[in-house]
Amino acid sequence: MSRAPRLLNPGPVNLTEGVRAALGGQDVCHRELEFAELTLDVRARLERVYADASPGYEALLLTGSGTCAVEAMLASLVPPQGRVLVVANGVYGERMVAMLEAHGRPHAVLSAPWLAAIDLSRVAQRLREGDFTHVATVQNETTTGRLNEIAPLAEVCREHGAALLLDAVSSFGSEAIDFAGWRPAGVAATANKCLHGAPGIAFVLADSAALDAPGAPPALYLDLRRYRAAQREGFSPFTQATHVMAALREALRELEQAGGWQARQSLYRTRSARIRGALASLGVESLLDPAESSCSIGAFELPAGRTYAELHAALKRAGFVIYAGQGQLASSVFRIANMGELSGSDLERLAAACAEFMA
Ligand SMILES: *Cc1c(COP(=O)(O)O)cnc(C)c1O
Repeated sequence: MSRAPRLLNPGPVNLTEGVRAALGGQDVCHRELEFAELTLDVRARLERVYADASPGYEALLLTGSGTCAVEAMLASLVPPQGRVLVVANGVYGERMVAMLEAHGRPHAVLSAPWLAAIDLSRVAQRLREGDFTHVATVQNETTTGRLNEIAPLAEVCREHGAALLLDAVSSFGSEAIDFAGWRPAGVAATANKCLHGAPGIAFVLADSAALDAPGAPPALYLDLRRYRAAQREGFSPFTQATHVMAALREALRELEQAGGWQARQSLYRTRSARIRGALASLGVESLLDPAESSCSIGAFELPAGRTYAELHAALKRAGFVIYAGQGQLASSVFRIANMGELSGSDLERLAAACAEFMA
């Protein structure tokens, strides 16, 4: 069997042998005590990935992709009489707008150009003018790899009494999330990006106080309060991806053993600096400055006269899966993520394959 390609897309990621073994472990029923124990263990581990998240935050697990967790967060934590300001500078911010539209929640959008940072003075102005109960945004906007600055945004939210809801799907486990300082009402993420689990389980770390506030069930499957009631004891209202849950526990164990999110951040920073360096030496420019980029994914300008399809095919032949640009960036940009199990020699081979393509 030939070696599986190295996945340089922003999740799903290459698994470690340990996580893969956990995925192939025992078959369990989601209504049995052994699964409840597994769920409680995973919840506790998620609540301590960031030391200041516990106590005060509850991890609620849903079987679904990252989008499922973001939608459950918005639908459950914004009350029907609430009003959300979505601060968007990419595809995932815009997706939050589509969710609020689908759920019929009052909202407004503050859009920044995809290559621009969030303009805090405009956020403050909108919050002064409008009657917003919540602000929703994306920490690592995977569209461009921009790491939006959440600390000053959280400060503006606090000044105006708006609760912060964060899509941290591509940053949870590898970027700083200051639960104590920012006090987000909810943070949504997934097993299969920076945590290195398998796809199939996503979660929301929700402020207990926000969950205590009465909320009309927004939907059946996405109702976080329904999950909260059952998961206190480790059970879930609906069938969970049991094997994926076991794999997530192993992934969280490995994260802890490796030194937690800080260690993962420095690993990712080393990897992304190598990728950037290799591409820069070939004349391929990063879309954003490293100082404003996340550690887990970078966007690069396609070399003149070459298409994404050509680059993708050449790298696929060399054993790598890269990612296209989205929307308005689809024909000018490609992306390389560096999450998951990757070795130094993988990165050397990647650099060589890029050099060969450019030659
Ligand atoms: C990956 C991602 C999502 C969710 O995507 P799914 O395909 O549903 O897993 C949401 N937000 C961000 C920022 C992401 O990177």
